Amino acid sequence: MTGDLVIYNARLVDRDMDARGSLVVRDGRIASVHPGADGMPEGDGCRGGDGCPGGGQCIDARGAVLMPAFIDLHAHFRDPGYTFKEDLETGSRAAVAGGYATVVCMANTNPVVSSPEAAAAVRERASRIGLVDLYQAVSLTRDFDGLDTSHLSSIDPALVPLVSEDGREVASPSVMLAAMSACARTGAVVSCHCEDPSLTDGARALRAEALSSGAAGFAGDGTEGRPGPDARALECLSAAGEILARAEDSMTARNLDLAREAGCRVHIAHVSTARSLSLVRQAKFASRDATRAGFRVSCEVTPHHLALTDALPAIVNPPLRPQSDREALIDGILDGTVDAVATDHAPHTLADKAGGAPGFSGIQTSFSVCYTALVRSALIDLSRLSALMSANPAAILSLPRGLLREGLDADLVLVDPDGEFVVGTGPGDGWESRGINTPFAGERLFGVVLATFRHGLLVYRRSDSTAVNIV
Ligand SMILES: [Zn+2]
Repeated sequence: MTGDLVIYNARLVDRDMDARGSLVVRDGRIASVHPGADGMPEGDGCRGGDGCPGGGQCIDARGAVLMPAFIDLHAHFRDPGYTFKEDLETGSRAAVAGGYATVVCMANTNPVVSSPEAAAAVRERASRIGLVDLYQAVSLTRDFDGLDTSHLSSIDPALVPLVSEDGREVASPSVMLAAMSACARTGAVVSCHCEDPSLTDGARALRAEALSSGAAGFAGDGTEGRPGPDARALECLSAAGEILARAEDSMTARNLDLAREAGCRVHIAHVSTARSLSLVRQAKFASRDATRAGFRVSCEVTPHHLALTDALPAIVNPPLRPQSDREALIDGILDGTVDAVATDHAPHTLADKAGGAPGFSGIQTSFSVCYTALVRSALIDLSRLSALMSANPAAILSLPRGLLREGLDADLVLVDPDGEFVVGTGPGDGWESRGINTPFAGERLFGVVLATFRHGLLVYRRSDSTAVNIV
C-alpha cells in the first residue's frame, strides 16, 4: 500500500484533455482527476502538511505538464547476450529518463527469446530493477529458425501481448501465415518488421562501400575523426535506401495480406515510406469489414523518421527517407493512420556502429525529439502526441493505462514543454543508455522530462530540475 500522491498546479494533458488542474493517486492508481482546479483539489485531495491523507506526497507542478507516462512498443535492451551494448538496468534508466514507464523489448537477444518462460524470466529480472514495466516479446519462429511456430500456441497475451521477429523478416509466407494464425487464436499482436530478406544483401554491400568511403557523419556513430562522406558514399547510401524502400513496401503488402487471411491483430513496426503507409491505411479500411473478424491493423513510426531525412548519412533500418516520405508519415498522424510513436531504441557500441550496425539509441530523447519536431512546430498538438505515445500503445497492448483517468494505473510523467536542453552523451550529461549512438547529440531540443512515476512511485527525477518541487 502506498499513501496518496497529489500533483497540483499542473497542466493536465492526455489524448482527451488539456486543462489546468490536479490529480490524486492512491495505491498506485489514479484516484481522481480535477481539471479546472488550479490549486489543491477539494475534499479528496491533499490539504498539506499533517493533513495530507495517508501521510503522502504533495507535488506543486508549478505549471508543468502532467501526462500519462509513455509506452514504448519497440525497444532493444540487448539483454541477455549483448549487454555490452545495453542491459535491462541501463535500458530501464534511459527509459524512465525519457518519460517511459512501460517498454516492450524485442526478442533478438542471445539466446533469442522463443518461449513464454524465457520472456517471463526477462520480465522478472526487469521487475526486480523496478523502474519500468517491461514486456518481453517472443519471436515468431523458434530461435529465428524461420520454420517452427509451435511455441506460439502456448502464449498468454496477458503476459506476452506482442510477438515479433523484429530485426529480421520471416521469409516464408506459409510460415508467416502459420504464425499469424496461431496468434489469431491467442489474441497476441503480431508486430512485423517488414523487410524482404532477398533484397537486404545488396543493400548491405552498398552500405559497406559507403562506410569505406567515409559515411556516416554524426557524432556517436563511431566515425569521429574520419573524413566526412564523399560523393560516392552518399550515392551508395541513397541506392541502399531505394532497395530497402522496395524491401519494406513489398513485405508490408505481403504481411497485411497474410494477416487479413489469418484474421489476426497485426502491427506494422517502424513504417518509413509513403507507400507502406498507404498500404496500412487501405488495410485499416478493409479491417472495418465485419466479415474480417479478428483482423485489426495498427502501425508505429519512430521519432527519427519523423524528425530526420536522408540528408543525414546515417545507417539505420529502415533507412532515413526523403522529405516526401517524412511528410507522408506526418500526414498519417494527422489522419489517424499512424497509431503510435515507438522508439526502435537500438543501442550499439561505437565499434559496432563504425562497422555498420544499424540503429540509434533513442528512448531517452524520443519525447523531446517528437515534441520539438511536431508540437513545437505546430504540426500537431500535445494531446495528439500523448495519444501516440501513451493512449494508443496502451490500447494495442490492452493495458489499463495511457490516460489521466480515474482507476487507471498511475504511470505519469511531468514535463516542462518550454524547457530546452542540448543532447549530450558525455559524463555529467545525464545520458543513461549504454549506447551513445544518437544522431541528436549536440542538438538543442525542447520538452524536458522532469520526473517519471510508475504506479505512483517516483522512478526518475531530473537532477538539475528546480522547476518542480518534488519531495
Ligand atoms: Zn525492426
